[in-house]
Amino acid sequence: MTAALQVPCPHCSALNRVPAARLGDAPNCGRCGKALFNAQPLALDAAGFDLHASRSDLPLLVDFWAPWCGPCKVMAPHFEAAAAQLEPSIRLGKVDTQANPGLGARFDIRSIPTLALFLHGRELARMSGAMPAGEIVRWARAHAAG
Ligand SMILES: [Zn+2]
Repeated sequence: MTAALQVPCPHCSALNRVPAARLGDAPNCGRCGKALFNAQPLALDAAGFDLHASRSDLPLLVDFWAPWCGPCKVMAPHFEAAAAQLEPSIRLGKVDTQANPGLGARFDIRSIPTLALFLHGRELARMSGAMPAGEIVRWARAHAAG
């Protein structure tokens, strides 16, 4: 039996089933045909967050940020570099807490940037403060595995 993982499409939101062994073979969406992974964090609104945090079998690493936050801007390229290393085993997303205050309130985000890791709708870990790419990757892998 091959384990299949449910992976929501970042483009059309279709729920794809991808055999775990094929995850690294640049799988495309069965509905829209676009790549399921682009080595880029997804910009998530409330619906996108719920889709990728709750309906996916992949852990979701979220960067809670805001446009006025200097350290967030400093960390942005590091978070993108981390996406290239963590996909496809971990999905990365960004939540603009100014555009989506409901999500910031729901998770009681008190300082930004805050990184939080989710799986099947549950928060596994969180960490506040800007981190370099290598540290983001190490932190996410350690908590996704635990
Ligand atoms: Zn699609």
